[in-house]
Amino acid sequence: MVDDPDAALADAREARVIGADIIEFRVDRIFHGEADEEGAAAIARLAAESPLPCIITCRAAHEGGEYDGDDAARIALYEHLGASTTPPRYIDLELSTYTRSANLRQKVHLATDWPAEQRDPAPRLILSFHDFNTRPATLLKTLADMRELPAAKVLKLAWKARSIRDNLEAFDILRERDRPTIALCMGEFGLMSRILAPKFGAFLTFASLRDAAATAPGQPAIRELLDLYRFRSITPATRTYGVIGWPVAHSRSPHLHNAGFEAIDHDAVYLPLPVPPEWEHFKATLAALLDHEPLNFRGASITLPHKEHLVRFARQDTARRWAIDPIVERCGAANTIIVNDDGSCRIDNTDAHAAVAVIRSMTAQRDGHSLASQRIAIIGAGGVARAVAAGLLEAGATITIYNRTPGRAQRLADDLSASAAASPVRGAATAEPWENLPSAACEIFVNCTSMGMAGGPDPAASPIDPAALSRLPATTAIFDTVYNPPETPLILAANARGMRTATGVGMFVEQAALQFERWTAATAPRALFHKVALESLPPSTL
Ligand code: NAP
Repeated sequence: MVDDPDAALADAREARVIGADIIEFRVDRIFHGEADEEGAAAIARLAAESPLPCIITCRAAHEGGEYDGDDAARIALYEHLGASTTPPRYIDLELSTYTRSANLRQKVHLATDWPAEQRDPAPRLILSFHDFNTRPATLLKTLADMRELPAAKVLKLAWKARSIRDNLEAFDILRERDRPTIALCMGEFGLMSRILAPKFGAFLTFASLRDAAATAPGQPAIRELLDLYRFRSITPATRTYGVIGWPVAHSRSPHLHNAGFEAIDHDAVYLPLPVPPEWEHFKATLAALLDHEPLNFRGASITLPHKEHLVRFARQDTARRWAIDPIVERCGAANTIIVNDDGSCRIDNTDAHAAVAVIRSMTAQRDGHSLASQRIAIIGAGGVARAVAAGLLEAGATITIYNRTPGRAQRLADDLSASAAASPVRGAATAEPWENLPSAACEIFVNCTSMGMAGGPDPAASPIDPAALSRLPATTAIFDTVYNPPETPLILAANARGMRTATGVGMFVEQAALQFERWTAATAPRALFHKVALESLPPSTL
């Protein structure tokens, strides 16, 4: 949104340096109607001095903008720009204004319909439609009406997505375009439509120079679009992956996987895919993603609160062939979907495999690779504890579960024992009272609670206080699954005592690496993942 033309031109130059191809100047605030010659001159200057081809948009208040003068003055501004020797490449006008009167339409044509021999390039008309509240019932009728209007050189439809599924409709509109078209979803569910625009042949996508400058909710920043999502490399053939959860906006997984795809030259992009917590949302969204062939949806990470929903989906969905990894059967939760070339699907729990890998590497030097002789204390009985315990049980460890709420610890131990009866393992799982944790006779302690996590309920807490820690043998190994911050109070105290430690960053990297390897059949760039994971943590937590 332009407030000051000098600053707007400086921003435009910066956007060009970062990699933009075209600039939109939203001039609603600097044009005030008929008598505003100063505003009109400032806008003509923007068009003349823009460092890139530009779109001039003076959006009316009735279409979500801030211009509150009359439409005749706004169209006269466009007419004036059209007649200038340095016109903008495009002007944007809403369908509702364009169709309101033959007189306005004629004036718009005066601004845009210059024969090539008289003016090249003449500004071209972007005819636009917005709904800031929902996906309107009239969307397809509106599109059909727009297609009847030859003066519109570019069609733009933008509406607020109600869910991820609305993006798929935007993609279908783009695929069936009869001329250059922009179809975008706004709001938290709409990021996918903005990033995947080139996959479906969109005329352009919008990005803001800075986060705070976003002119529409859900709009990415240019750097994010180009660097994180590798927008320039997205083509119709690009595979789509993502992280499904609620919330997912702050997930670090896109940083790791997109950097990994780039490192091995895998034609793919990985997106945050927010899906509300209810089973119905999950079921409908996942089915739509899998069914949308042009999307080329090849896999996903599944995070809270959908890990159990994924198992339910795979068991119920008889239309596709699903393979379920044994570890998923054991812990009842999955965090990975793999879609094979033939359309068959597989689910796995790489949290469980990753935790085992971390503990194996902790014990390798001293105790060899076998976990069969190890006694391991699992602290916590939530989702992560369930996956870690299932993995360790399968690896043959003897597990004791300690949890603040004893009933949950007992339930987890019972579930694991029942799974061991159905599918035998060498290990065993029992629950013990929380108070007994400091005196646990275990070689390894694994914190699976949220204690010590930045932004969690107890960021300064440790499940084992330093005094209790100092009574444990110095050979005890401490693994904290919390990765934000990497050095939790528990890790700091254990390091001070000279114990073997592993932070949650290693597990986070390993679970992502195992997903990556299942999707790409290539070795994951673990060192790169580690670097990116640390870089993408908020600086205050490092
Ligand atoms: P969850 O299902 O909500 O479970 C939280 C657990 O923490 C419960 O056992 C809870 O005990 C316990 N807890 C919370 N506050 C406590 C306190 N003040 N005192 C004692 N116990 C407390 O969460 P989750 O999904 O298992 O995640 C747990 C942690 O794992 C997260 O904080 C995250 O940092 C970490 N994590 C790491 C990775 C990785 O890849 N490294 C991945 C995911 C998560 P009650 O049952 O008594 O409530």
